[in-house]
Amino acid sequence: MAEKKEKKTKGQELKDKLFYKQQHATLVMSAAEQKKADSYCEDYKKFLDTAKTEREAANETVRLAQAAGFEPFDKSKKYSAGDKVYRLNRKKAVILAVIGKQPIENGVNLTAAHIDSPRLDLKQNPLYESGELGYFKTHYYGGIKKYQWPTVPLSLHGVIVKSDCTEVTVSIGEGENDPIFIVTDLLPHLADEQYKRPASKLITGEELNILIGSRPFKEDDCSEAVKLNLMNILFEKYGIVEKDFLSAELECVPAFKAKDIGFDRSMIGAYGQDDRVCAYTAFSALLDMKEIPEKTAVCVLTDKEETGSDGNTGLRSSYLKYFLADLGEALGKVSGRDVMSMSRCLSADVNAGFDPTFPDVLEKKNCSYLNKGIVVTKFTGARGKSGTSDANAEYVGYVHSLFDKNKIVWQTGELGKVDLGGGGTVAAYIANLNIDTIDVGVPVLSMHAPYEVTAKNDVYMAYKAFSAFYKAE
Ligand code: MN
Ligand code: MN
Repeated sequence: MAEKKEKKTKGQELKDKLFYKQQHATLVMSAAEQKKADSYCEDYKKFLDTAKTEREAANETVRLAQAAGFEPFDKSKKYSAGDKVYRLNRKKAVILAVIGKQPIENGVNLTAAHIDSPRLDLKQNPLYESGELGYFKTHYYGGIKKYQWPTVPLSLHGVIVKSDCTEVTVSIGEGENDPIFIVTDLLPHLADEQYKRPASKLITGEELNILIGSRPFKEDDCSEAVKLNLMNILFEKYGIVEKDFLSAELECVPAFKAKDIGFDRSMIGAYGQDDRVCAYTAFSALLDMKEIPEKTAVCVLTDKEETGSDGNTGLRSSYLKYFLADLGEALGKVSGRDVMSMSRCLSADVNAGFDPTFPDVLEKKNCSYLNKGIVVTKFTGARGKSGTSDANAEYVGYVHSLFDKNKIVWQTGELGKVDLGGGGTVAAYIANLNIDTIDVGVPVLSMHAPYEVTAKNDVYMAYKAFSAFYKAE
């Protein structure tokens, strides 16, 4: 049956021409592109299951990069267009680069995402026994709603460096037959007093204790028999004594696997999508690039964003600056400051997607929505844009035109209503290097929760956006 076309009124025509209308990625994507997006997200889910911590994400990125022909960067070597290099910083942050055709004094096209996520870190002296049960004490990492973490299956990841400096890698709780760990909560029957606490203290930091065992050592009668039995198991499995925890970095993260969400399988549920969704899309776009880019394309995956970017693996340190300076030196005796001054950056981090269950915190005309594509965020910050780098209109215009030209579905997004909170990203630290920088990223629901939600078509649009950006002149 032929569709009856109604003639548009002059007003409607003018509206079509003049008004801004967001696009829905699903409605503009062809069936072939939808298939591509869905299959791309299968690999993304595999990455999420392999890379539960910053160390694992750095390790997996290097593994995939090596398979794609990337080699460790050596600043004394001669490089030419098309060469692929990487630098691993203390096993927790990675920089990848593909050398471009243009001279390095023209600057680089840089993407930056973070691979650390909110979690429960073990304290340095974590092991104890109480009420004949064994526990680990924790200090949470990043901004979490503490009440969300009890009764969630947890896995344990990290490294223990022993007194002889040998290292033990730990990953337990991800395998089908692995045990998992858990923070317990009070039963509702006895929670009357707990309910009177403000939500931020419903579970306190010192109550986030991880249950790790309950059987005592039984060969003879001694005190702390449960702790002894646990320490004995750890000694047999890892060769560690209790003192070795003092020099360990052990992280508890949700043991869930990444899954499709919804009858239509349009979304992904997983731990750590902030910001591994941008990390994966940014580095896989670089690895997948077939042609030699015009400008040198660089991707940095950083650590410590969730705690403010300080430390030598965070982006407030100089490791990115040093890499760009070494690149300038190796490729053409160009100073780092000249490379940086001519560079541009997409700072890739997630944004808060509109959640209809909690509509009041976002301003509908300026927030991001699931399935409406990659989010471009001109400024972040809080209370009068404090702490933001606020991209120049000229640079926003450049990104606007680049995305439109490459048929990338994109939207603008602001993290919450004015004066209702806010947040920051690494954008400011990169912009402070005199690099044109803007925030882009994928909208997320339940950000910083043990299980976060993204839409597959937004993930795919981010990948497409980074691909186009690396290729830009
Ligand atoms: Mn975050
Ligand atoms: Mn983030």
